[in-house]
Amino acid sequence: AQSVVAIVGRPNVGKSTIFNRIVGERMAIVEDTPGVTRDRLFGEGEWLGRRFHVIDTGGIEIGDEPLLVQMREQAHLAITEADVILFVVDGREGLTGADEEVAQMLYRSKKPIVLGVNKIDNPDRIQNLYEFYSLGLGEPIGISGAHGIGVGDMLDACVSHF
Ligand code: GDP
Ligand code: MG
Repeated sequence: AQSVVAIVGRPNVGKSTIFNRIVGERMAIVEDTPGVTRDRLFGEGEWLGRRFHVIDTGGIEIGDEPLLVQMREQAHLAITEADVILFVVDGREGLTGADEEVAQMLYRSKKPIVLGVNKIDNPDRIQNLYEFYSLGLGEPIGISGAHGIGVGDMLDACVSHF
């Protein structure tokens, strides 16, 4: 069976942007289909000749629950379904309490976690990576989903856990 990478993180960190980068044009037709939501949940990626499934847990809405409850549910889903969890944080905004809460859940799961610090659009922002070491999830990988920077390194890290 193909490995599953689940993308987790609070809203607006760039999960869907990164999902689209990974899945690429492969799914482009689906977006033009009427009635299909813009945020796709499932896709297929390929890196270094390995195909894998990708889930954007941010696209899963669980009723009218408060944000933190939704994030817990999304993280829980990722923990149960994924072989590798891609935890995305926002390197422009910095570390938040919600990030720390999700990180604790992920940490306890013992699943392999890749920590992607998004919105590192230029070298000036690399210093923003350092505070994320405090999450205890290993080396933060600076990426820019919008510009495609660092995405290869991030996928190398994901594939290394398959
Ligand atoms: P999600 O809610 O986590 O799925 O986040 P989205 O992918 O919808 O992105 C939220 C916002 O951040 C959008 O306005 C994106 O254009 C922006 N964004 C995503 N990735 C980057 C990035 O690498 N750099 C910058 N500057 N903005 C980004
Ligand atoms: Mg999204």
